[in-house]
Amino acid sequence: MRTVLVGPPGAGKGTQAAFVAKHFSIPQISTGDIFRANVAEQTKLGLEARKYMDAGDLVPDEVTIAMVRDRLAEDDARDGFLLDGFPRTVQQAEVLDDILSDLHAGLDAVLELSVKEDEVVRRLSGRRTCHGCGRNWHVEFDKPVEQGVCDACGGELFRRDDDAPETVRRRLEVYAEQTAPLVEHYADEGRLHRIEATGAVEDVTRRAIEALESVVD
Ligand code: AMP
Repeated sequence: MRTVLVGPPGAGKGTQAAFVAKHFSIPQISTGDIFRANVAEQTKLGLEARKYMDAGDLVPDEVTIAMVRDRLAEDDARDGFLLDGFPRTVQQAEVLDDILSDLHAGLDAVLELSVKEDEVVRRLSGRRTCHGCGRNWHVEFDKPVEQGVCDACGGELFRRDDDAPETVRRRLEVYAEQTAPLVEHYADEGRLHRIEATGAVEDVTRRAIEALESVVD
C-alpha cells in the first residue's frame, strides 16, 4: 500500500496517519514531523525550515524534495508507506511520481480528509500537542484529565508555534492557494478518495481504512 493523505491543516492527518499506517503495517512518513524533529535538534535543515514554518509558509522544494527522496529510499518504505503532508503542491506531486518511477513503484491511492474551514479553525485554535508522544489534545473538546499534561504518556503539552492564530490564517491561505489545486489534480486523474473527517476519531479511521481497502481489493 503506497498512499498519500491530503487535507487542510487541522483535518487530523497526523492522528489518522498513525492509525492507518499501523493497520496496514507501513511506515508513516510525515514531512511536518521530520521538519519539527530537525527544528528541535537544531540541524541545518531545521534552521532552514523553521523560518518558513513559523510564518505558515511552505518550506522550499529544494529542501523538502531531497528529504522525501532520501526517506522513501530507506528499506522500511520499500513495500509501502503512508505520506502525510507531502505532496502539498502539483509540482511536488509530479516529483513524487518521478521518485516512485525511479523506485519502480506507483501510488495506489490518495485519501482526502474533508473538513469545513470553520471546524478547522476551531480545532487548530485550541490544539495542544504532547512533547512526549506527539498526541494532540484540545483545550475545550478533547481535554486531558490534568490540564497541560498528556493522559497517554504524562508528557507536557504545548501549543505548536504554527498554531498561533495569525499563522493558522496564513496556513489556510497557503492550503487554498497551493494545495487545493493538488487535490483537484488527483481528482482529475481519478486517484482521489474523499472521506468526511468530522465526528469521532475512530469513525474517521474506519472510513479511511475502508476507502483504502476498497482500492487494493
Ligand atoms: P504539517 O505538520 O504537515 O502541518 O506541516 C507543518 C509545516 O511544515 C508546514 O506549515 C510547512 O511549513 C512545512 N511542511 C510540511 N510539509 C511540507 C511540504 N510537503 N512542502 C513544504 N513545506 C512543508
